[in-house]
Amino acid sequence: MKESFLKPGKNKKHPEKQSRRDFLKSGVKIIGGIGIGGLAFFGVKKLWEDQSKANLKDRITSPYTDAEMHLFYDAHMKKIIEDELSAGKYNIPEIRDRYAEIMKIIADKHGAHLKLKMCTTYNKASKDIIAGSGFTPENVPVVEFIIPKVMDEYKELAQKNEPNLEERFQILVVTSFMHELDHLKLGHGLGKVRGYISSLDELSKDEAEAWAETCRYTFTPLVEKYHIQLPGTKNEFFNNWVKCGKDASSLEWKNFIREFYKATR
Ligand SMILES: [Zn+2]
Repeated sequence: MKESFLKPGKNKKHPEKQSRRDFLKSGVKIIGGIGIGGLAFFGVKKLWEDQSKANLKDRITSPYTDAEMHLFYDAHMKKIIEDELSAGKYNIPEIRDRYAEIMKIIADKHGAHLKLKMCTTYNKASKDIIAGSGFTPENVPVVEFIIPKVMDEYKELAQKNEPNLEERFQILVVTSFMHELDHLKLGHGLGKVRGYISSLDELSKDEAEAWAETCRYTFTPLVEKYHIQLPGTKNEFFNNWVKCGKDASSLEWKNFIREFYKATR
């Protein structure tokens, strides 16, 4: 596994110097010498999986080459993840603040900064999984993007001749990311080994909690304030959340989530 720190954008005028100054003013310690933009502030570290070294017992091979996946990330994901969300510059304030809040909670609780992992193979639990989260044995929180599935989603949107293709895709990335952060905030996956597949009971309980948070803090402003259309499944989750009176403890909500996840077990 090759580990690389995020690099600052090339086209900007010394963004790293400016933000480093702001950063020092804020009195927060820079971790591991990553003095680059808001990333240092939020302490996000990115890793790319090397497909040839991926543990294929736990994974399903990607139809895309490593080069294609890297190019795709640079063209369609880097800006939203690195320059906007992780830099504290995302243009929807509710989500920008929620991201910062969760990052702070995670850092305070676990004393570690988020690792962002780009997986170059599908998840063996299901080829439909777009992102995942958990903790390393050292309790470092990790969010994974399953790049082949992310690319499939992009292709599907493109084939529909979606007029706001990039915008729709960005919402998919942001909402997936925020949902995984909700899991980490709730401490889901702590103490579990990598590749652990939970029972339907355990999965349903965690997902009902996490999706309630995602519906409340991410989907509600997107839909009700900004009138943004959520991607397919997420729209279904939000509609059911509303139908259940936005009540995470309601039986209907728990049952809806359980029914949804039944197919994965
Ligand atoms: Zn989830």
